[in-house]
Amino acid sequence: RQAAFRTDLSSLLDLVGTGKESLSFMKRRMRRLASQWGTAAQRLHAKLRQRWREQKKILVHVGFLTEESGDVFSPKVLKGGPLGEMVQWADILTALHVLGHNLKISMSVKELQGFLGVPPGRGSCPLTGPLPFDLIYTDYHGMQQMKQHMGLSLKRHKCHIRVIDTFGTEPAYNHEDYATLHGYRTNWGYWNLNSRQYMTMFPHTPDNSFMGFVSEELNDTEKSSIMQNKVNNMAVVYGKEASMWKHQQGKEGFLQILHRYMEVHGTVYYETQRPPEVPAYVKNHGLLPQHELQTLLRKAKLFIGFGFPYEGPAPLEAIANGCIYLQPKFHPPHSSLNHEFFRGKPTSREVSSQHPYAEQYIGRPHVMTVDYNNSQEFDSAIREIMSTKVEPYLPYEYTCEGMLERVHAYIQHQDFCTPEAPFPPANSSSKLGLSSPASPGPQFFLLPNSSALTWAPSANAPLAWPPLSSLRLLASQEGQSCVEACQRANLVCEPALFRFVNNKEALRGLEVQCEVVEAEVNHVFPAFSVLRRECGLQKDPLLYSCAGLSPKYRRLCPCRDYRRGQVALCRDCL
Ligand code: UDP
Repeated sequence: RQAAFRTDLSSLLDLVGTGKESLSFMKRRMRRLASQWGTAAQRLHAKLRQRWREQKKILVHVGFLTEESGDVFSPKVLKGGPLGEMVQWADILTALHVLGHNLKISMSVKELQGFLGVPPGRGSCPLTGPLPFDLIYTDYHGMQQMKQHMGLSLKRHKCHIRVIDTFGTEPAYNHEDYATLHGYRTNWGYWNLNSRQYMTMFPHTPDNSFMGFVSEELNDTEKSSIMQNKVNNMAVVYGKEASMWKHQQGKEGFLQILHRYMEVHGTVYYETQRPPEVPAYVKNHGLLPQHELQTLLRKAKLFIGFGFPYEGPAPLEAIANGCIYLQPKFHPPHSSLNHEFFRGKPTSREVSSQHPYAEQYIGRPHVMTVDYNNSQEFDSAIREIMSTKVEPYLPYEYTCEGMLERVHAYIQHQDFCTPEAPFPPANSSSKLGLSSPASPGPQFFLLPNSSALTWAPSANAPLAWPPLSSLRLLASQEGQSCVEACQRANLVCEPALFRFVNNKEALRGLEVQCEVVEAEVNHVFPAFSVLRRECGLQKDPLLYSCAGLSPKYRRLCPCRDYRRGQVALCRDCL
């Protein structure tokens, strides 16, 4: 069946149910953004021009909101607990509904069992018969519950699962045996999924799929009225829990500097009196409903982060409302190796500031990332902010249309169930020359003016998504990951294309001198060591990793182009 865009959210609102603060928060958000979603649906509909979109049967099982996982979130909603997750789930549900799919929502193990048709009760009651859904969106809690209640059949059906995973999971942590053997085992990871089945809040490592969320988009009239009404000396602090104000060292110093120039506002949750962590000169509004926070941000000139929470939605909302976001640089960067918050998370990603997306994808003049321990630098940043005029800005990928476009593309193109044919095909000879027109195997040629190799277009080029036309093969430096190597070339690492560069032809294309070529289970392969003239190919496709790096190896990196403002999609990806 063809999926038809929906612009009316009422049946979705009914599906979400009632009775919990978390659900009310999500529904308020859905209602508030309903008209934006409607407009976005119309625009995407026009853009896709009657393209066939298959309607999928989708189950959304929100594991962290189930009683069975302790539902620690719902009671925190009114107290400033992590609302980012709630924002994202509300937007995912809305996107799937608006795209016209057939949606079921479960927020308890009982509902999950009902939808899957497994008999109630504990124990690993296997799901006999086929899975009644094309896709299941869940989270790590939900995975645990499905494992408990579907038993072995989970393994059989896991290619249909998508895991919403805020901070991301890298391949080395996802691969159970490898993680166990090499010290990457954490409480969360090792589900042996294709790493692209994990979907993140921001485009962290391209090993995962970037799901995202949305922020409100303004029209030109709203933009200019906001710019006219900006109060140049008004700052809002990012941090809705009192604890977020406390644990930044040196905080007193920079907050006082800020206060010298600006009126400081906060939205810190409190019960009866001002939290002691919040200085008396701060005008604290208490935790605000989302729409009132927007109103405050529209007047403010500066939105200032203290270093926590990491990578939330609020900075994007502030920038979209015309604020400049000022945040601390982390030197050295925070990661699971050196920071309590990230410890045990299935990633080695280095977080270079409170909000690396804002730093790297948006940057000046909307975002300033400075060393808060250097009071001179901090002081001059504040003065610069007060005198800089900026327009409200929202990257396309965080608009409703951008999110719909991306989720549409994933649903129609990502397929983790069909086994991929071996590449190069088994019958192709290994002595293939580069770009020799007669050879049926992989062919690469050098792009003029660059050191990247591209796929030689040929009639029998294998099908892939992203398509091979987007592939650029690069070699990283020693100690450099493919994430970084591709980024340096204004490209993005594309794990789906690793299989086309994991071969001798690719090594030959880069003119690598190999004395031996060995296939191994190693998350930095395919790679080569210049010094030892050793080349390694990847033996286990689950370990294809953009994030991996080793000081000993230069890596073979499948990079691709991307659309401006929509890094998840290549030019020919739609
Ligand atoms: N928020 C809110 N009221 C406030 C402060 C924040 O509704 O007083 C909302 C904000 O609009 C954002 C969400 O809380 O969408 C999550 O914010 P944050 O960036 O702090 O991320 P979190 O740490 O909660 O995931």
